[in-house]
Amino acid sequence: MKNKKHLVIIGAGFAGLKIARMLNNHPAYKITLIDKNNYHQFQPLLYQVAMANLDASNISFPLRIIFEKSRNVSIRVASVTNIDMEKNKIETANENFVYDYLVIATGAITNYFGNKSIEENTHSMKSTWEALQIRNTLLQHFENAVSKKENILSVVIVGGGPTGVELSGALAEMKKDSLPFEYPELDFSKMKIYLLEGTSKLLSNMSSISSKKAKEYLTKLGVIVKTDTIVKSYDGLKLELNNATQIESSFVIWAAGVKGNLASGIDPQLITKSSQLKTDIYNRVISSNNVFAVGDVAFIQTEIHPRGFPQLASVAIDQAKNVANNFVLMAQEKTIQPYEYKNKGNLATIGRNKAVVDLKNPKISFQGFFAWLIWMTLHLFLLMGFKNRVIVFINWIYKYFTHRQSLALLFEPLTHKITKTTSALNSSQ
Ligand SMILES: Cc1cc2nc3c(=O)[nH]c(=O)nc-3n(C[C@H](O)[C@H](O)[C@H](O)COP(=O)(O)OP(=O)(O)OC[C@H]3O[C@@H](n4cnc5c(N)ncnc54)[C@H](O)[C@@H]3O)c2cc1C
Repeated sequence: MKNKKHLVIIGAGFAGLKIARMLNNHPAYKITLIDKNNYHQFQPLLYQVAMANLDASNISFPLRIIFEKSRNVSIRVASVTNIDMEKNKIETANENFVYDYLVIATGAITNYFGNKSIEENTHSMKSTWEALQIRNTLLQHFENAVSKKENILSVVIVGGGPTGVELSGALAEMKKDSLPFEYPELDFSKMKIYLLEGTSKLLSNMSSISSKKAKEYLTKLGVIVKTDTIVKSYDGLKLELNNATQIESSFVIWAAGVKGNLASGIDPQLITKSSQLKTDIYNRVISSNNVFAVGDVAFIQTEIHPRGFPQLASVAIDQAKNVANNFVLMAQEKTIQPYEYKNKGNLATIGRNKAVVDLKNPKISFQGFFAWLIWMTLHLFLLMGFKNRVIVFINWIYKYFTHRQSLALLFEPLTHKITKTTSALNSSQ
């Protein structure tokens, strides 16, 4: 290990994990992979955890298992609190690390655009934990509605991108297929599901034909889709909208924007308005030779993409492959290669047999069962771990034939016990 360069990677999402795996056992690097979770999470299927279709463990993979045989990758489960690019040092609560090279792959967080009322009162869905909270809150509400004879709630999903579309479609199917059987005491015709979108169309990064089809599918499923609708404020009970109207709801999911997720310490001049790190086409942070930003947290401006690349798993993975290859080239003292995003197409699912696909080459759009099969195959392929793929596939087959949610379980954390154990652990350190 002596002459190896120390490469610290912050974040074991799509980008960070790919780089660590590609450089696993590389003789030139000693790698420290740091993530605040001890697992990699597959965000594209979070909505299925939230809607009780999948178990959290089906879309999460323990980092220590991935690298259990590695000779050069060490894992640290910690949150990086500060990055000092001048001293080549990063800080976590328990340990500091000095690096030769740093890869920042900390992804994105929910963007509330500075609106405190929305931030404080809505649910977001950027992590497995948040998806589980959505599931728990929803199921608890139905339990309360039965026992306390409360009114059934309206759910509002804000943001008509893939997350909002997929979430509202899955919830509409749950309302139709599962909930009336599980809660025969409740009248689900009173439950409204709204999908609000600020621009004039859903899935704004897709073709008009796909966007229209998605709206048509959702409307058929009973979702009330409102485009050109911006939420001004939300007090936990009522949403105030731009067109001077209101919607009453105590359950709002905010899926209307993301911004880069950065630890403190970075020169503000290197950070864009959307909190991403400005990097060159080699993913090197501007004015640095040894710090790289990859994935959702990176902002790369090219002639073809003046507004940066889309924040997608496929982009994060492709960038990561290029960065990992460049680390190999650097070790061989060869010239590193630039990265440019090539859009191969986009897709989104709305529900059973309902998906939309836009391909770039050939330029075609199609919808329905075949598009849905493609969506499923791609997601299974991207999911980490053979066991997870098999379990997810079985869950989907089960749901396809039974129309039922198999995992409508309410897990309550035992907060007082957790607090006791944590303080005991802390005092023993
Ligand atoms: C609900 C949802 C649905 C999506 N659906 C799709 C889809 O269908 N298709 C698609 O292509 N993309 C989709 N995306 C986007 C895709 O998930 C992201 O583009 C992708 O995860 C970006 O990868 P990344 O490696 O940059 O970041 P991430 O995958 O977000 O990984 C970041 C990692 O950094 C860790 N981290 C963050 N801060 C710290 C810190 N301070 N210290 C230590 N660790 C830290 C996090 O725990 C995380 O593991 C979806 C995203 C969401 C939220």
